[in-house]
Amino acid sequence: MRWGRADPSFLRSYSRINLITLSSFGKYFLPGPTEVRPAVLDAMVRPVIAHRGPDMEALMGRIAPRLQYLFQTERPVYVSTSSATGLMEAGVRNCVGRRVLSLVCGAFSERFYKIALACGKTADRVDVAFGLANEPDQVADALRNNAYDALTVVHSETSTGVINPLEEISAAVREISPETLMLVDCVTSLAAAPVRVDAWALDFALTGSQKGVALPPGLAFGVASQRAYERSLQIPGRGLYFSFEAFEAAVANNQTSNTPAVPLLYALDLQLGRIEEEGLEARWARHQAMAERTWRWVDELRVRQGIDVWVLAEDGRRSASVTCVALPDGVSGVEITRRMAERGYTIASGYGKLKERTFRIGHMGDHTMEELEKLLEVLASVITDES
Ligand SMILES: *Cc1c(COP(=O)(O)O)cnc(C)c1O
Repeated sequence: MRWGRADPSFLRSYSRINLITLSSFGKYFLPGPTEVRPAVLDAMVRPVIAHRGPDMEALMGRIAPRLQYLFQTERPVYVSTSSATGLMEAGVRNCVGRRVLSLVCGAFSERFYKIALACGKTADRVDVAFGLANEPDQVADALRNNAYDALTVVHSETSTGVINPLEEISAAVREISPETLMLVDCVTSLAAAPVRVDAWALDFALTGSQKGVALPPGLAFGVASQRAYERSLQIPGRGLYFSFEAFEAAVANNQTSNTPAVPLLYALDLQLGRIEEEGLEARWARHQAMAERTWRWVDELRVRQGIDVWVLAEDGRRSASVTCVALPDGVSGVEITRRMAERGYTIASGYGKLKERTFRIGHMGDHTMEELEKLLEVLASVITDES
């Protein structure tokens, strides 16, 4: 074939190769990027279209209401060609004039704090031990001591498998310091566990494409409350690429502010349809069931096999999409992930300071209970051998 205009027959044969080589879904359990269904990958292989034109507007027009459903919001959802960290930075740059409070319970929530510092803001942090959640009373104390433009919180902390009580934290902020904006990283909770942006009065909620939404990496989505958007217009130095003003103007015309990752938008279009078909609440329930199965499996290993493993996150504060398993002395998380790789399975070792002492399973995105059961069976034999 000759290069030039996209040749449809070439595209079709390429698609078939994708479908064949990538049909072994069910072996890749990282807590992000998560495994992507072959049909969703396949949707990306289409001709490039101009990002200022009717095809793009039609595509964005289909995507917009379904993203609102995902975030449970009436506000427009911004589509950013960046990873999720880009929108964490956007939250800080658009919403914080001077001072921010960061709730820290692991590596990603600490990243929010570091972004605030890197953007030249004054940041205070409230820490808890790994495995614990940030609790509303702790937040209330901090808010009584100082005035903050905004608060940063990670809903599902992917490094520890903890889920923070977001609705309660938001209620505490509203009560004690109603002017403080809630900036929320929902990267491993959105499309995996209940997130209700409007009902919970979240001022900026964001996620990336490669976690709960189960797309390849490269896009991020975020929604700002009306008041957060208005506040952003008063904040100097908020930049351009990530300014709420630019996102808001683009989305009003079913456009993106700059050249987007078009192939990922094709995949998003398909995946949003798949999510709608499953139903958001059914999707949440599937994640919760996979999480509970994983926690039970950890308990069984301990009780029946006498191996001293435990779920790092405290009971009642566990994420539906990622479980962090703590290991006994002398057993290495890195070694376990390596042994799993030899058997064709991908799981994650611990993150940051927890690298050796834990491993993590991402029961996230499009995985199902049957696939998880197979993984846990292989994993049990690996851990039994190692201990
Ligand atoms: C993965 C992750 C991020 C970072 O996402 P990038 O897309 O790599 O920028 C941020 N927060 C949480 C909770 C995550 O799990």
